[in-house]
Amino acid sequence: MMGLLVFLFGLIIGSFLNVVIYRLKHKKNFLKGRSFCTHCKKTLSAIDLVPVLSFIFLRGKCRHCQKRISKQYPMVELGTGIVFLILYIKFGLTLEFFIHALFSVFLIIIFVYDLLYYLVLDVVSVPAIIVGFAGSLLLGLSLTNLLIGGIIGLSFFLLQFVISRGKWIGGGDLRLGLMCGFMVGWPKILVLLVVTYISGAIISVFLLASKKKKWKDSVPLGIFLTLATLVVILFGDKIIDWYTL
Ligand SMILES: [Zn+2]
Repeated sequence: MMGLLVFLFGLIIGSFLNVVIYRLKHKKNFLKGRSFCTHCKKTLSAIDLVPVLSFIFLRGKCRHCQKRISKQYPMVELGTGIVFLILYIKFGLTLEFFIHALFSVFLIIIFVYDLLYYLVLDVVSVPAIIVGFAGSLLLGLSLTNLLIGGIIGLSFFLLQFVISRGKWIGGGDLRLGLMCGFMVGWPKILVLLVVTYISGAIISVFLLASKKKKWKDSVPLGIFLTLATLVVILFGDKIIDWYTL
């Protein structure tokens, strides 16, 4: 029962994240104003804003202009709901749940934004670094642990940044490296880097095989990095257990 409530809470937060992502892109204050259709700009009423369900009942179309509503909306809502549910199963309603839920919120925003616009915004990544650092301290990770995690996360990407003279990865990825180092600490940062590169390699091969990408196109590293951080937050202990068994 509690799990269901946490899942619904995740859906609502996910719905809010969609608004945040849209308003970040269009430079609007996401705390003010009511939600509207991105095509016809008509204000949406409460019945159109029920996470996932509205999308299903409206068959993915705006009530007013009949234009398609992006699948991004229900996907982000469902994704956030599922992440919150797994966190609840893992931690219960504890401080660990709330801090990791907060990490996830930042990770989901960065993931979706990078996927849509190939960009990691400083207004998101810088607060995420601070939240990652403060959150992990609150969870009892030592300052030394966090510094090691942060330095490994940062230097791994800094090395590639220097070798490729900024061609493979951008400054935004460096900040993300620091962020995920702080969010997961040592030794999970190592698992995180491995997961990032394995998932990055698999998906790149898929994209190349389906001819959606050419070699020269850069693949947004931010989506793999944030996905890997989420995976490590949710399943990091299990992955380490398997590996050391
Ligand atoms: Zn519309």
